[in-house]
Amino acid sequence: MESVDWGKGREIRSSSLLQEPGVDVWTSACILTYPPAFTAEISQLMSLIINTFYSNKEIFLRELISNASDALDKIRYLSLTDSSQLDSGKDLFIRIIPDKENKTLTIRDAGIGMTKADLVNNLGTIAKSGTKAFMEALQSGADISMIGQFGVGFYSAYLVADRVQVITKHNDDEQYIWESAAGGSFTITPDESSSLGRGTAIRLYLKEDQLEYLEERRIKEVVKKHSEFINYPIELEIVKEVEEEVEDDEEEKKDEDKDETKIEEVEDDEEKKDKKKKKVKKQTTEEEVLNKTKPIWTRNPEEIKEEEYHAFYKAISNDWEDSLAYKHFSVEGQLEFRAILFVPRRAPFDLFEMRKKRNNIKLYVRRVFITDDCEDLIPEWLSFVKGIVDSEDLPLNISREMLQQNKILKVIRKNLVKKCIELFTEISEDKEKFKTFHEAFGKNIKLGVHEDSTNRNKLAELLRFNSTKSGEELTSFKDYITRMPEKQKNIYYITGESKAAVEHSPFLEVLKKKGFEVLYLVDPIDEYMIQQLKDYEGKKLQSATKEGLELEEDEDEKKKFEEEKAAFEALGKAMKDILGDRVEKVTVSNRIVDAPCVLVTGQFGWSANMERIMKAQALRDSSMSAYMASKKTMEINPQNPIIRSLKSKVEADKNDKTVKDLVFLLFETSLLQSGFNLEDPSGFASRIHRMIKLGLSIDDDEEVGESGDGAIDEDMPPLEEGGAESKMEEVD
Ligand code: ADP
Ligand code: MG
Repeated sequence: MESVDWGKGREIRSSSLLQEPGVDVWTSACILTYPPAFTAEISQLMSLIINTFYSNKEIFLRELISNASDALDKIRYLSLTDSSQLDSGKDLFIRIIPDKENKTLTIRDAGIGMTKADLVNNLGTIAKSGTKAFMEALQSGADISMIGQFGVGFYSAYLVADRVQVITKHNDDEQYIWESAAGGSFTITPDESSSLGRGTAIRLYLKEDQLEYLEERRIKEVVKKHSEFINYPIELEIVKEVEEEVEDDEEEKKDEDKDETKIEEVEDDEEKKDKKKKKVKKQTTEEEVLNKTKPIWTRNPEEIKEEEYHAFYKAISNDWEDSLAYKHFSVEGQLEFRAILFVPRRAPFDLFEMRKKRNNIKLYVRRVFITDDCEDLIPEWLSFVKGIVDSEDLPLNISREMLQQNKILKVIRKNLVKKCIELFTEISEDKEKFKTFHEAFGKNIKLGVHEDSTNRNKLAELLRFNSTKSGEELTSFKDYITRMPEKQKNIYYITGESKAAVEHSPFLEVLKKKGFEVLYLVDPIDEYMIQQLKDYEGKKLQSATKEGLELEEDEDEKKKFEEEKAAFEALGKAMKDILGDRVEKVTVSNRIVDAPCVLVTGQFGWSANMERIMKAQALRDSSMSAYMASKKTMEINPQNPIIRSLKSKVEADKNDKTVKDLVFLLFETSLLQSGFNLEDPSGFASRIHRMIKLGLSIDDDEEVGESGDGAIDEDMPPLEEGGAESKMEEVD
């Protein structure tokens, strides 16, 4: 094979490479390698596909037909606004052509085709996130048939072929042949042989043990199983041998146009009867359409079998499993559309990746595919829902830009959201199903609560959390309410990094004692969600770690609390003086039972957990952090012996030097316990080491220069006035 034009490309483009910072992949592929090479990952994927023992190879046909159908969608869409696009061929079809003689199977489509640049970019030189993700998935036991989900379905051709050609013609370019027998590289050459007009033919040189895919019966079986719902006719070219009577002298001429299926009728003219006739075997080809192309959504739901929905779902989604649930409905009245929505069983590998396509709903207008990339068709939090919508009202030649502002589309969107929520609520009636749903898409529901104020209350019903009373199961708000003691008015929650991090939190002490259940909100998205969800069925949602906690105290408790407040006011003030700006104020707490103190944040500021989440987002604007960062109030526990003895120490001598060190230690330990980060970990470590020495009765003089501890001690901040010795004595 001649490899035209790569060399030339190399020369011309290398100079432009020096000038232009934005080098496209086409360019770099031309310059850097000859013949052009696949990315390392794609090479790896190809050899994996070729070498892995895997029996369900038939899915290659589904993948190639699905690509053909996508390419047809694209040209049909273009032609809506520019009918000349179809000058290169009006028929939109997919054709499967087995060739037993040459052992090739060709999948031909009249789709959009690929330009030379498309070939380079789409087939092997642009790294896709799915390539790596797919290989990782395989390693952890995924099945090769999942390939389509990861956006690399084309390479499944190498399940059955050791050499693949892609012959393609795009309206804007010449016809090219891409070819690769794997092994890390491919070639692209102009193709001057027979013209495709427009579209693509994928020619598979089948491996010796895969010749079954040349058999009519087998092809029909596979198409029926995997590609029944493709919206273009899938034609199978069938070669038939027919016996034919021909007149001797015409025989030669007819042999030349073998492909033409003209079986000439024997004329009953008198003169012809005289001529000699001969029986010959002729090969003729016929096209048989393998799929029914009447769209399933236009049919009456009562007449559609469940298996048909499953098959349709797989066809539009590339999924290998049935959907978890689906809903087929039509809307009539001012506006008319039909839709089928599906909820998958699993979240896709890139559910919250920003760059990916925002939705999985295909939009049709009067049976014509328009786009599968209309962001406004469904909100982002529902991006996991798959399906189709077919509108009777939108204009056929609507552009993607016009769609964004379209009023009809807005109404469709509203209806889709409503139907999705109905569908989720139906799922929630089946415990097992809902568990699967919640694990996969619980985050999406929370995102929905955050974004969709109209449907917030309905969505809140679908939320599930662990709690102080839920055990291994998750609980809903509804169930929570049934367990509320009579005097409890609010719903309590605590946010944090994990269940383990919050379940022993001092913030839960009083609530537990009172028998008030506390929900664990330990998903980062919970922090965002809860800012919007202020109440549920008239019950206020209250954070256990923020100011303004209402505890439904009785008169006695209130009175006692007031007394304690007064009694500990002086200590609070002394502590605030020591801690300075680190805390807003120091007050007496009514929410802790055992711990000496906790750090509470403002009602409208960030919680400790939110502060942690925000710090993890490195690129955030820091001015926001300064504004929102938690204003901490230290709450002290008047029952706690540490606090009580600290109080008497302060009362005896306000300027007691040890108090300062102890207050810092208390502050720092409660930072940790309340879920904050330490601002000065080494200062904290030094203080703890001094405590340890105290526990081990080590004199400060003793260890200098001897013990392994020395290194740490060198970093130790200077001791507070009064020195370690006096401190030790006093603590004793
Ligand atoms: P996906 O279909 O998920 O994009 P594939 O690996 O199946 O991934 O295909 C890669 C790309 O190659 C497609 O996105 C498309 O741009 C191009 N392609 C594949 N087959 C065809 C075809 N028959 N006609 C036009 N383009 C095609
Ligand atoms: Mg594909």
